[in-house]
Amino acid sequence: MSFAGIIVNNEALAMDMIFTYKVPEAMEVSVGQRVKVSFGQGNKKIDGFVLKITENVPENIKRIKEIHSVYPEIYFDEDKVDFIEEIRRRYLSTYLDAIKLLIPRGILNGMKYKVSEKLYHIKEADGRYEKEPYLGILDLVKKNQGNFIKADISKLGFSLSSVNTLIKHGYLTVMSENDYRYNVDEFEDYKAKNLNKEQSYGVEKISSALGTYLLHGITGSGKTEVFLELIRRNIEKGYDSIVLLPEISLTPQMIERFKGRFGKDITIFHSRLSDGERYDEWHRVRSGKVKIAIGARSALFLPFKNLKLVVIDEEHESTYKSEMSPKYNAKEIAEYMMKRNEGQLILASATPSVESFHRAENKEIELITLSERATSASLPQMDVVDMRDELLSGNRSIFSNRLMQKITETLERKEQIILFLNRRGFSTFVSCRACGFVFKCENCDISMTHHRDNSLMCHQCGARKYLPKTCPSCQSKYIKQFGTGTEKVEAAIRQAFPSARVMRMDRDTTKQKSSYETMYNDFKNNECDILIGTQMISKGLDFKDVTLVGILAADLSLNLPDYRAAEKTFQLITQVAGRAGRGDKPGEVIIQTYSPENFAVLSAKSHDYMGFYRREIQMREVLKNPPFSKLLYLVFSSEDEQLLIKNTQYLGGLLRKHLTKYDNMILLGPGPCIISKIKNSYRWQVLIKGDIKEETALEIRNLIHDEMKNLYKEIKVSMDINPNSMM
Ligand code: ADP
Ligand code: ZN
Ligand code: ZN
Repeated sequence: MSFAGIIVNNEALAMDMIFTYKVPEAMEVSVGQRVKVSFGQGNKKIDGFVLKITENVPENIKRIKEIHSVYPEIYFDEDKVDFIEEIRRRYLSTYLDAIKLLIPRGILNGMKYKVSEKLYHIKEADGRYEKEPYLGILDLVKKNQGNFIKADISKLGFSLSSVNTLIKHGYLTVMSENDYRYNVDEFEDYKAKNLNKEQSYGVEKISSALGTYLLHGITGSGKTEVFLELIRRNIEKGYDSIVLLPEISLTPQMIERFKGRFGKDITIFHSRLSDGERYDEWHRVRSGKVKIAIGARSALFLPFKNLKLVVIDEEHESTYKSEMSPKYNAKEIAEYMMKRNEGQLILASATPSVESFHRAENKEIELITLSERATSASLPQMDVVDMRDELLSGNRSIFSNRLMQKITETLERKEQIILFLNRRGFSTFVSCRACGFVFKCENCDISMTHHRDNSLMCHQCGARKYLPKTCPSCQSKYIKQFGTGTEKVEAAIRQAFPSARVMRMDRDTTKQKSSYETMYNDFKNNECDILIGTQMISKGLDFKDVTLVGILAADLSLNLPDYRAAEKTFQLITQVAGRAGRGDKPGEVIIQTYSPENFAVLSAKSHDYMGFYRREIQMREVLKNPPFSKLLYLVFSSEDEQLLIKNTQYLGGLLRKHLTKYDNMILLGPGPCIISKIKNSYRWQVLIKGDIKEETALEIRNLIHDEMKNLYKEIKVSMDINPNSMM
């Protein structure tokens, strides 16, 4: 008799355990299979996943129910069980959330594999079938062997029953084939380059030993060529490779390069795929048909059998940390996976994260450096403009005089311009000058952004309303808009340069699936002179005619309430600047800022990563911020504010008491989050900082679970280890 340990499809924290069910005699079940079981007192049928199979008879054998039924597909192999437990432990998630990483999204909503019955011609007509309509049908199928289904034939004017007759008598046959929903475009060959000295040194070094590598190369130094070569070698040995890119760098250009080098049998896995497309890609990988996946963070969990190489490009990007449970860090998980598989992890960036570079300095991982651009292009000329001077000299516009002049010159030379501002909308907030009232979202505690169509929009929950003519608080008419978003930049540019062709790329203009590609191609084909955009245009774009880049407000990221503010600013300036002068013509970058003396701005200006890093790592050490500590960020949220405050304060007290037994650990809070309300849910936080060991984090989790068990419907708890942002 065998028994199965099952994780049920129920989100509640109290259900986060392994339930034992009996496997009926006649049933075959394996680990990773989805099953239906009766659950709870009402014996409701719910789905579950098999995590373990055992022959040991459990103690409370009498109360054990049987598995009701099994689904045919196996979603993960036995060797993934450790992985699931590791994720749950490391990131304090539930089993179910960890399992969901491994199964194609949409599965639990009844997603099906698309199959079609394709027609094949077997033999020529003879006897009584040697006449119409049979001859016509046979001829059609023969000419389109394997391409038509029955419905296609009947669309061409033949009856379905004649087709069926031919099948019945063995002239035609149908075969079920998986219909993949992916695109099979052909790509131009992208020939391998002759690697330069630094590149070949890097490739040989990495090929010589297993482990984790940090590939630090300035923008345009040919990092991509290095990992294309490493992938080629990996494939040659019959192994699988994954390349992770930030969502926004999954540009057509990047895809062209990979498909152009390795052919079309590559999985491209990004968030714009539908659930069905994701399911298909998952299957293609599982069936062993593809050896390379390129994608956003979730591509890491595709079911490869022999994964030996993971490349994480732009490794400093925050998108590698998940904001949803499990709040995993793809870099850590990739490293864990590659250790287990005896493979390699390559972290690549022009501006490595302070954490990764620190690890390289400590020789935990190996550093490979590419210090020169691979082509003859030189790094762009960088200019900092102090916007306070502009104001003093009477220029109140968004653009400095210098930038205006450069835009004019660049347009005259018929070259292209990129203007970067990391804020969408028209004005960033609207307030009343008579009484100081600020328009805030009714559901969230943030000010609403004014858009061009005269609406106010909450960038947190998407709520929208029209801007009234008078102040809701004092009825005055002195309502004024403050701050600048990309829409205002676009309007100002169109006014100043009426004959220039202008495009704006941000979340508002790229909502449609293809709009990004269309804009991208227009810019590539020189059908646009000035591209204005947010973060979305900060990387991945490699266009030879872009010779001017304007960074309109370098300070935006400096003023974030985040210990990584300087790091993010340095990275952003460097990345955006790297779009300029990639071809033969020299590039120029204008950085507009109110803090020209800031070291992040100054180091970016002089292309000085090491200068930036030295100073930043010292501050981290003094302030005991990561990598010199770990953070555990707890957010409690509820629609009932009083209940939330009462319980968070109580829990805060308990945690504080619990932590007294550890040195080097501090607890900040409880207190309201910076964004104290989102979608009508109030939010309170606790931050624990210090040398937090895995066991300590687990103790804290268990303590919270125990205390909150009966309140799980009213109060949601989020636990995040080293979060991206604490707002
Ligand atoms: P990175 O990823 O470091 O930004 P890329 O790999 O995109 O750099 O390379 C930048 C440019 O240099 C690309 O146009 C690429 O084709 C070219 N390139 C890279 N390596 C070489 C090489 N060894 N010889 C010639 N051109 C190269
Ligand atoms: Zn007012
Ligand atoms: Zn809102």
